Amino acid sequence: MALVVHNTLSRRKEPFVPLEAGRVGMYVCGPTVYDHPHLGHARAAVAFDVIRRSLEFLGYRVLYVRNVTDVDDKIIARAAEENRTSWEVAEEYTRAYDDQMSALGVRPPNIAPRATAHISDMVGLVASLVDRGVAYAVDGDVYYSVESFPSYGALSNRTLDDVRAGERVEPDPRKRNPLDFALWKAAKPGEPSWSSPWGDGRPGWHIECSAMSMKYLGTTLDIHGGGQDLIFPHHENEVAQSEAVTGSPFARVWLHNGFVTIDAEKMAKSLKNFVTVRDVLAEYPAPAVRTLLAGAHYRSPIDFSTQALDDGRSAWERLATFARNAAQALATLDDRGADPTAAEPWVAKFTAAIEDDFNTPEGLAVLFDLVSTGNPLVDRVERGDGSAAIELAGIAAAFEALAEVLGLSPARDWPEAPRGSEALAPLVVYLLELREQARLAKDFARADEIRSLLGAAGIVVEDRPGGSRWHLA
Ligand SMILES: [Zn+2]
Repeated sequence: MALVVHNTLSRRKEPFVPLEAGRVGMYVCGPTVYDHPHLGHARAAVAFDVIRRSLEFLGYRVLYVRNVTDVDDKIIARAAEENRTSWEVAEEYTRAYDDQMSALGVRPPNIAPRATAHISDMVGLVASLVDRGVAYAVDGDVYYSVESFPSYGALSNRTLDDVRAGERVEPDPRKRNPLDFALWKAAKPGEPSWSSPWGDGRPGWHIECSAMSMKYLGTTLDIHGGGQDLIFPHHENEVAQSEAVTGSPFARVWLHNGFVTIDAEKMAKSLKNFVTVRDVLAEYPAPAVRTLLAGAHYRSPIDFSTQALDDGRSAWERLATFARNAAQALATLDDRGADPTAAEPWVAKFTAAIEDDFNTPEGLAVLFDLVSTGNPLVDRVERGDGSAAIELAGIAAAFEALAEVLGLSPARDWPEAPRGSEALAPLVVYLLELREQARLAKDFARADEIRSLLGAAGIVVEDRPGGSRWHLA
C-alpha cells in the first residue's frame, strides 16, 4: 500500500504524490498571537505534528513551515486595552504558544516565519495583483476582485452566488463586489504600519499566508493545512491570490483538522471549565493530553470533557507502564540481543493505519495490542526467561519507534506532571499527625525525620502557633 490522504479540494481520499519524489513541502496556518493558546490551537498543532512525523516515518523528507500572525486587529486591540505596544503583546504570546506546544511534545516547524518580517514580500504580491488588474486600490486600501478569479469557491465547494446568499455580505460602495477582500489596509492612527505604493498601512491576513508559504516552499505546495474553520474565506482567498499571480496550482493537497468542542456542562460540574492549554496542563500530565489529541483522527471532532481527559490519562499510563516495566525487566538480564522479527506484525499494521489518511486511532489500537502481548513477556522476563527477553527486546524497541510517530514516546523528556495537592493531602495530614505525636513524646529525632522526608518530597512544612501548615514547594 501507499499513502492515501483526504484532500479537501477533491473531497475524497486520493493517493499522495508530492511534486518531487521523497520530499514534502507543507505549510500550516499558525496562531494569531494575542492571547494564551486554547484547546483548538493545541488540536491543530498536534494534528499536523503527527502528520509531519507520519510522513517522516513513511520515508519522506519534510520541510514544514508554520507562520506566526503577529500583526492583526486582535493584537492591536489587546495592546490598546493594556496600554502596551502590539510588539510586546505579540512577543509574549508567541513565546507562550511555543512553550505550551513544546510541553505537548509538538516539534518546532523547520521555519516559523513571522508576518511582520515579511511585509516587503506581501507588498510585492499585492503589487503584482494590482498590475494584473485583479486588485484595486481605494483610499489607501487595496481589495482583491473575486470576480476576476473564475474558480473562486472551488476549495469550499460553492459559487460566488452561494457565498453571497450564505454570508449576507453588506454592500460597500468602495468595493466592486461586496465579497472583495482586503489585501492591504490603510494605516489608522496609533497602529503599526509600513510604507507601500498605496500609502502607509498593513497587510490583510490572507495575503500574509500566500506570501510566507510561497517564499519558503515555492509556487506550488505539496500540502497546505489548517483548521476546518479556515477553509472559507481564509484558504479560498489564499488560493485566489496566489494562483492569480503564479498561474500554477497553489496547493496539491489541502488537509483540514476537525473542531474541538468543550463539554461545558460536565466541565462546569467539576469546576474545571478548561479553555486554555495552560489550564489543562495545570491539572493533567502533558502526555495524557497529547494521548487524547493524537488518539483522535485529525478530521474528527474532539470533545473535551473531564471524562475524555481521564481516559487520555489512563491510556497514557498503560503505554508508559509497559515501557517502564519492559525497560526494567530487560535491564536485569545480560544483553541477549533483540529479535527484530518479533515486532513485524505490529509495524506492518501500524504502517497500514498511518497510510490510510493518518488513521491514528487505528495506530493507537495497534500499540495497545502490542502492549497486551508485551505485558506477559515482561512477567516471563522477570522470572528469568531468556527467550522471552529476546522477543520482548524486539517489540519494546518497535513500540518506542511507533509510539514516537504519534509523539507519545514514554522515553522522551516530558514536562513534570502537575502534582495535585488534593491527592496528597490525606498522606501529608497523616504524617504531620505522627510528627506531632512524636514531638509530644519528646522523640525529636523522629519528628525531624518526618519533616525532612516531607521536604525531600517537595512538601514544605511551616510550624505556626495554630499548628502546622504545609504546601507544595
Ligand atoms: Zn493562513
